[in-house]
Formats: sequence, C-alpha cells, structure tokens
Amino acid sequence: MRRVAVLGATGSIGASALDVVARHPDRFRASVLAAHRKVDELAALCARFRPELAVIADPALLPALQERLAAAGVPTAAAAGAEGLRAAAAGEHCDTVIAAIVGAAGLPSTLAAARAGKRLLLANKEAVVMAGPLLAEALKQGGGELIPIDSEHNAIFQCLPPARADLAAAGVRRVVLTASGGPFRGRRREALAAVTPEQACAHPNWVMGRKISVDSATLMNKGLEVIEAHWLFGARPEQIEVVVHPQSIVHSLVEYADGSTLAQLGNPDMRTALAHALAWPQRVDSGVAALDLVALGRLEFEAPDRATFRCLDLAYRALAAGGTAPVVLNAANEIAVAAFLDGTLPFLAIPELIEATLEAMPPEPVADLAGVIHADLTAREQAQRMMRRAFC
Ligand code: NAD
Ligand code: MG
Repeated sequence: MRRVAVLGATGSIGASALDVVARHPDRFRASVLAAHRKVDELAALCARFRPELAVIADPALLPALQERLAAAGVPTAAAAGAEGLRAAAAGEHCDTVIAAIVGAAGLPSTLAAARAGKRLLLANKEAVVMAGPLLAEALKQGGGELIPIDSEHNAIFQCLPPARADLAAAGVRRVVLTASGGPFRGRRREALAAVTPEQACAHPNWVMGRKISVDSATLMNKGLEVIEAHWLFGARPEQIEVVVHPQSIVHSLVEYADGSTLAQLGNPDMRTALAHALAWPQRVDSGVAALDLVALGRLEFEAPDRATFRCLDLAYRALAAGGTAPVVLNAANEIAVAAFLDGTLPFLAIPELIEATLEAMPPEPVADLAGVIHADLTAREQAQRMMRRAFC
C-alpha cells in the first residue's frame, strides 16, 4: 500500500491525483492532504479520504480546520504553516509525496520530501527551476526517487532507458518538449496588448490552475520546463528543443543517435502521468480514455513564435546565465503573473518586467536553500519596485 501525501490537494493536480488514488483503494491511500487557505474544501476532502494528517498552510486557519474536522467526526490530525508542510512531507505519515503546490511556496516541502527519501512525484516545476542542484543533492542524500508529473517530463522519463545517469551514454541526442502554444497561438504582438486574465486562462486543451494557465499563454511555462528538463535529465540547453504541437497529444519526445525518436502519446489529462508515477514501474488504470488516432486524424507541429512570446528565450537566457538567474526569472514571473491576474499589469508587460528584473540582478552563485530564498525574496522586491515605477 502506497501512502500518499498530496500537497496542493485542493488544486487542479491535487484533484487529478485524488481521482487516481480513489480508483485504487487496494494500492494507494491518501494519508496526508495539504492546502493553502481553502479550509472548507480541505475538510471536505478529509471527510472523503480520511487521511491521517491534514495541513493548512495559513496558520491562522488551523482552528477553523480543527473545528470542521471535529464537526465532521473525522479522526484526522491537523497541522499548519510552512513548517507543518515541511514536516508532513518528510514525516512518517507518507512514503510518497505529490508536490503539487504552485510556485516557490512548494520548494521547502519538495526538498524535505527528497531529503527524507520519499518517492517524489514532482508537479511543482518552480521548485526545480529555483533549486535544481539542491534538489539533486537532496535526492542523493535521501536515496528516494523522483518521477516527474509535468506531462512533458513524464513523457521523457517514459522514453528514456531505465538506467539513465548519463544521456550521452544512453545515446540520447536531444529531448524535444512539445508546447500547445496556449490560447494566443498564432496571434501577433499587437493583438495581445489588451488580452484579459479570462482569455489567458482559457487554455485550449488543459484545465489547470490560473498561474500555470497564464504561463502557458506567455510560453513561460515552456521556458520553465526547459530549465526543468535540464536539471531532471542532465540535458544541455542546446539539447533541449521546443516544438509547438497544438493538439497536445504527443507529450514530448527523445531523439537517439541512431535516428530513432521515441514519443509518449495520450489524451491531454494529467491523470495519465499521475497514475504512471504512482504505480511505476507497474501500470494501472487512470480513468483516461485511450487515444482514437483515426478520430484525431492529424497531429500538427510548428516552430514557436519566439519574437511574440519572449518568455521562452528569457528562460533559455537565465539557464545559460546560471546561479541565481533562474531564481530571479521565476520570482519576477510570479510577481508579473499575479499582477496580470489582478488586472494591474498588461499581458505584454510580463516579459518586460522579467527581463528588467534579470538585468537589474546579475547572477550570483547559489550554495544552499537560504541563498535561494534570499535571491527569491530580493528579486520579488526588485520586480515590485520596477512594476510600480514603470508599468502601473
Ligand atoms: P492550482 O492553483 O490549481 O493549485 C495549487 C495548489 O497549491 C492548491 O491546492 C493550493 O492550496 C496550494 N497552494 C498555493 N499556495 C500555497 C502555499 N503558499 N502553501 C501551500 N499550498 C499552497 O495549481 P495547479 O494547476 O494544480 O498546479 C500546481 C503545480 O503543478 C504548479 O507548479 C504547476 O506548474 C504544476 N503543473 C500543473 C499542471 C496542471 O495540469 N494543472 C500540469 C503540469 C504541472
Ligand atoms: Mg507541462
């Protein structure tokens, strides 16, 4: 029986994960559930899944959580705060952690799960973008395993041979990340000046949280995924290619030296990656329908429009610059996306603000988590200052 902690249980990935867990009561048990502020939703999930532990990240909401658990007669213990999350990820109530918190807030619990040797199902890409080398070190120290949930990286994981310490030794030439292109694919720059958060969040193929939906619309999601692929698989930046594939059926590809290209295909539904990673190396039903290739008819591919969607190249630049640059990129992006979602920053100012923040903060080496968190906070302040001055 796999005892699974779902960190970010009230989110889009959390819901998909719990759907897969519920299909296999003989194999998986949701033993820890954690959320940010949605205390009613968390309590309702506890009533349904009866976990050993529930964690609410906002400590002010702990009494409310305790009250609702008691009222529902649920014997789940309650904890709170960033420290509660970290302890839950590393603690005795789980052997598997689904890291599905959005943004930098997920970093400490992700690292803690890796260091404690859990099976880490990583959806929280911002954590690996910020702290790829620290995460690798924590995994080595803990002796657990990381299985990517991001559909592209899960696809690459599936297309690589099992022992893959070294891509060159495995005969890998390149990895190819597919991108849907988001809701604004094909639009010219001028047509993006006045787009609204609702338009940006209306993704053609995937239903996701609002932050990653905006990231998909700017192509920053793919940029973050390029950095993620670098750290997860040891691919050099020039070995990572991005191809736009509007149908989101081919989830990514691995190209080998002999000219073979292996791809993983499936309907765009995150439950496939979650079921794969929960059961790995076995396979179980995810609830996702099989592909109907004849009904699909055609699969299309095109080059990304890097001049209109500048975030992709900003991410490649931050990866090449190294050190704190990816931390700064991620922090400035989180500030810019939150401001866009609030209606205070225009869509086209998102890459401008990120670029300006990167320019204002030359990369420095990172030694430890404290260094990453310092760079993250400094970049957030910098981005806020520049935003007030220039864009709002
Ligand atoms: P979401 O907004 O739907 O859910 C986010 C979850 O994180 C919620 O449960 C929320 O309570 C929790 N959370 C937010 N801030 C928190 C904090 N400060 N402390 C603790 N918990 C906090 O987001 P999502 O779409 O489920 O995405 C989650 C992560 O998975 C992101 O990193 C995203 O990039 C990644 N991801 C998502 C998808 C997808 O299809 N949704 C695909 C690939 C990767
Ligand atoms: Mg993805």
